[in-house]
Amino acid sequence: MARAVLRFAAMDLPISRPFRISRGEKSVATNVLIEVEAEGVVGRGEAAPNPRYGQSQATALGALETFDLPPRAELFDLPPILDAFRAHAPGESAAHAGLQSALWDWTGRRLGRSVRDLFGIRGSAVPPSSWTISIDSPDQVVDRVHEARDWPLYKVKLGGGEADEAAIRALREATSRPFRVDANEAWSEVEAREKIDWLATLGCELVEQPLPAADLDAMARLRERSPLPLIADEAACGKASLAELARAYHGLNVKLMKTGGLKEAIRLVHDARRSGMEVMLGCFVESGLGIAAAATLLPLARWADLDGAALLRQDPFEGCTIRGGEAQLSGAPGLGVHPRRSLDLGPSPN
Ligand SMILES: [Mg+2]
Repeated sequence: MARAVLRFAAMDLPISRPFRISRGEKSVATNVLIEVEAEGVVGRGEAAPNPRYGQSQATALGALETFDLPPRAELFDLPPILDAFRAHAPGESAAHAGLQSALWDWTGRRLGRSVRDLFGIRGSAVPPSSWTISIDSPDQVVDRVHEARDWPLYKVKLGGGEADEAAIRALREATSRPFRVDANEAWSEVEAREKIDWLATLGCELVEQPLPAADLDAMARLRERSPLPLIADEAACGKASLAELARAYHGLNVKLMKTGGLKEAIRLVHDARRSGMEVMLGCFVESGLGIAAAATLLPLARWADLDGAALLRQDPFEGCTIRGGEAQLSGAPGLGVHPRRSLDLGPSPN
């Protein structure tokens, strides 16, 4: 068997407009592209490291640079490779997810089957994704809604204070379509209680991460009386147990970058359901490569939020399309996406 090769490179993705949430603003997603190659087949995956979880492009690249594929690694045999990477860099869940996606992509291409097929995930009905409107002035919110007319629903990022009401009023004047809210941990308990009650009167579907992730007791009080489903995102990253989360939230936002990849995400979806929670499938700002990996799991989710690649100035990958909010995979082998132009990641550093 030909020796397996691991390659990777920084992948900086300019965002169409500065993307603002309660924690700050960014105009470029600093992600990492990962490739594995053997037997003339290349598999690709994307890592979107997030500073909220102690990760960056530099830490992800550093973990990959100092990682050697186990001797005689066979890419079909994923667990020893992924176990070795996790032991080598336990905090790098995004890099782990990207490496895992590359391995599944390779396996699917080698076998001529899609990754969704390899996992035995059936069903063509998928929940529509929301279009994300980052924190902005009321005029800008209206512009964003008009630009995204073909999206069936919106997710509005809020950051606390009176600007929240102004943004939602502007949205409601511009569209009667359903919307969701993501406070990214910005609210206090009192503020959350008032705002959730108000949002429920306006056709809001759900509220994501109203309070800081660590405030599980306050969240449990909020959940008791909330007229809207409350979804854990920052809180759902492996620190709190599922029993603790189920007491405080109605659902989880499952992202490959937090779970460490596809296999762990599938396990979390099933465990969350068993704990009485519903599942949203989410993403960070990622290219069509990362979105294709997440979209593999779409039939398992109640809600979806996979607009990451639509926020980019240009998506370097094609094959995963999103129309009318519905992310569709090409069905081609592996993750079913390919680069728009040839990529040169250079020789293997290993
Ligand atoms: Mg969120």
